[in-house]
Amino acid sequence: MSTSKSIFELDPERLATTDVDGNRVYLHPQEINGKWQKRRSVFFWFLIGIYLVLPWINIKGKPALQIDIFHREFTFLGETLYGMEPVLMFLAAACLLFMMAFITSVYGRVWCGWACPQTVFIQALFLKIETFIEGTPKQQRELDASSWNAHKIFKRGLKWFLFVLLSLHIAHTFIGYLLGPRELLLKTMGSPLENWGLFLTTMTVTGIFLFDFGWFREQFCIIMCPYGRIQSVMMDENSLVVAYDAKRGEPRFGSSEKGAQGDCVNCYLCVKVCPTGIDIRRGTQLECIHCTRCIDACDNVMDKIKKPRGLIKYNSESKEQHKVFTPRSRIYFSISLILLTAFIYFLHSSTKLKLVFLRAKLPYSMTQEGKIMNQFQLKLSHQGREHLSVDLKIQEPELANKIEIITPKQPVELDKAEKKIVVFFRFHSDLLNAGKFKATVQAIDHKSQLVFSEKEVTLVGPN
Ligand code: SF4
Ligand code: SF4
Repeated sequence: MSTSKSIFELDPERLATTDVDGNRVYLHPQEINGKWQKRRSVFFWFLIGIYLVLPWINIKGKPALQIDIFHREFTFLGETLYGMEPVLMFLAAACLLFMMAFITSVYGRVWCGWACPQTVFIQALFLKIETFIEGTPKQQRELDASSWNAHKIFKRGLKWFLFVLLSLHIAHTFIGYLLGPRELLLKTMGSPLENWGLFLTTMTVTGIFLFDFGWFREQFCIIMCPYGRIQSVMMDENSLVVAYDAKRGEPRFGSSEKGAQGDCVNCYLCVKVCPTGIDIRRGTQLECIHCTRCIDACDNVMDKIKKPRGLIKYNSESKEQHKVFTPRSRIYFSISLILLTAFIYFLHSSTKLKLVFLRAKLPYSMTQEGKIMNQFQLKLSHQGREHLSVDLKIQEPELANKIEIITPKQPVELDKAEKKIVVFFRFHSDLLNAGKFKATVQAIDHKSQLVFSEKEVTLVGPN
């Protein structure tokens, strides 16, 4: 084992991906095999399969998952929530966030290393293509350093051509989740001139994926990912992290420290395989995405030198038996349960028909017969799927015959999640008390005469 300074010996004063001048050092992580990489590979392909296939699976005539942000409709396994209300969207997002916080507080950055699309696509596809075309990390570094010639143009051209194809596919699938894959396919078959907006959006998304997965890579995790930043706040000494056992490993081979030599042979393999280029022997770092590649790398080295595995392993900083429920994880779990309960409650209440009356600018007008007319805009909304035929009636028996409800059409046909109509109330001035009175409007099912919902309105006239 050489004791001369390796190119993988990192400067503690700067990021592993920057040189002395602050320029980016492009990483070429070494391929590695091991039990964790086998598991991750299976899991990555499972996730990629789901990602590619899910929008094409039809359940009850709808995509298995569709997030139609344009119409605020969310479809999952054949069920659609129409007109997702802001409160529901907030509760769903907050619940997801706290559920992620719970998982992070227990299992650390398991999302980053195992399920983040950034990690999955780069490690399962883009890095594999790169290695297939450009060879080992050493050959890749040599290609980087070489001048442009036919060989380099061919290799780089082929790699970026495949990257573009892949990014196009991933981007189209992504847009398919928003638009529905069949509609997207139909539109894609046509000329871009017919669907300029869609064409430009898809090309932009493709460009973003190409840039990120093909070139930007670990820089996104290190510099830009907001989730990466907040995760460290969600974790504590009980959370699982990928950690180096310094007690066992130090003093490492070649170290000037005196005493019995530790198990680390200072081979830098853990650094060479790291997708963010860090040296895990320097302790837990923000750049570590818990991808477990260094675990497998080090285990392979330990196997070779006939030492027990686990010099680098999943561990918690407290080194105690890993617990799922700690005070912190209990708080996150409880908050996410409260948010989930609130979500279910609001979801249930919002499946009922909702009436919102907005008064017109002119509070009232007089008819030729001397009656008073109040004009409103009525918004009817519901989360249910069925087509509704709604009659509007006044609930109070003593007022029912004295107030006329005038709508463009009775019954009101509600064929989508939300409808706005103009409603007039015509009544005699006898009903007024100090220039106003209240009445309850009921929305009733035209067929069964069941009351969907009711809303009180204030009707006004001259004082
Ligand atoms: S792979 Fe293991 S033995 Fe090699 S440098 Fe890293 S910690 Fe030390
Ligand atoms: S230190 Fe290990 S677990 Fe962390 S990113 Fe690097 S290789 Fe992955």
